[in-house]
Amino acid sequence: MTMNVKNLICIESHNKRELHRAGWIIVDSSTVIENGFIEIENGFIRDVHKRTPKEKSIDHGPGVLIPPLVNAHLHLELSALNGSLPFDKGFKLWVKMLLEKREALGKEKLIKKAQNSVQDLIKSGNLYVGDISTLGITKSIIEDSALNGICFHEFLGSDILPTFIQKNDSVSFSVAGHAPHTTSPQLLKVLKKRSKSEGLPFSIHMAESDDESEFINERKGQWADFLTSRGIDWSSWDIGSKTPIAYVNDMGLLDPLTIVIHLLTVNDKDIEILARSKTKVCVCPRSNQNLHGKLPDIEKMITVGIQPALGTDSLASCDSLNVFDEMIFVKKQYPGLDPATIFSMGTINGARALGIEQLTGTLSKGKRAQFLYRSVKAVNKKDLFQRIISNE
Ligand SMILES: [Zn+2]
Repeated sequence: MTMNVKNLICIESHNKRELHRAGWIIVDSSTVIENGFIEIENGFIRDVHKRTPKEKSIDHGPGVLIPPLVNAHLHLELSALNGSLPFDKGFKLWVKMLLEKREALGKEKLIKKAQNSVQDLIKSGNLYVGDISTLGITKSIIEDSALNGICFHEFLGSDILPTFIQKNDSVSFSVAGHAPHTTSPQLLKVLKKRSKSEGLPFSIHMAESDDESEFINERKGQWADFLTSRGIDWSSWDIGSKTPIAYVNDMGLLDPLTIVIHLLTVNDKDIEILARSKTKVCVCPRSNQNLHGKLPDIEKMITVGIQPALGTDSLASCDSLNVFDEMIFVKKQYPGLDPATIFSMGTINGARALGIEQLTGTLSKGKRAQFLYRSVKAVNKKDLFQRIISNE
């Protein structure tokens, strides 16, 4: 895993009372304090002040205190596939090779590399995750680590297996459907119902490939042939003359407790459906660039009021799980986006997508006393966001 971000310290306090001072504090992208301190009480932020503390405090220096990063979509169990799959031979071959190599590696290797990735995430300040696992091997790794967030057990095909769903303070357990063209509508509806009944988010990859869109819109194509060749009867699926987003919307899957991932093949109407239903959106631009040579229309999403979160996908399609790297890539690829907006994508938008915004995402009153210190030297607020989203 590349560790592009230097000069980073992760701070977590469970103490009764503590004051943390720095040259800058980013409470959220529109609340930036110069020369202030964070007041901690019993492991939570009691207040943030714009002045020099009079009591004894921990002085971090002239740099900036920021909330921890949220990687809202990753697959830790694929970490062992880092750098072993070709990106330039098409998406179908990539998926085929992924499944073969994952099988050949064996569970022990997959677990070991997932553990290494967890340590890298913690070191790089990515303390919150939305992890997708089909094998079910990453739950305990995350639970035993300093990471927080949601473990999604992902299903595909049509078999409804026993699932464990539970809402907790640090790590919650929910379910995900793989994608609308790989998972039967009956199974998708059951998974959504189960996660919703516990008040937990449901995750699904959406509108990623042309094969997916062609199958759902035209009821034919290579994906239709593939399913038929595998003996899968999709004749009752309510597809045809619609986009993947319209299809899952008709099924009743879109609401504020659903996170849709990717959105590469969407039209304006799809984006309006997502905005109106307040569905959460997570984009993974580096993975999209590697696998599909195209990027999601983030600007359009923001125009209609969607607040996209950032994910990295897995190390099988991206060279790090670090959201700092993802933000740097977004800044380069979308020069029209304000760096403060990109900063929100990597923090509060991710927290909202995972339904944990009461715990983290900003440094405001009542949130957990967890933050990062970056030793950047900024001349003003605008410069500050520019420098945070850089390799400094
Ligand atoms: Zn994914």
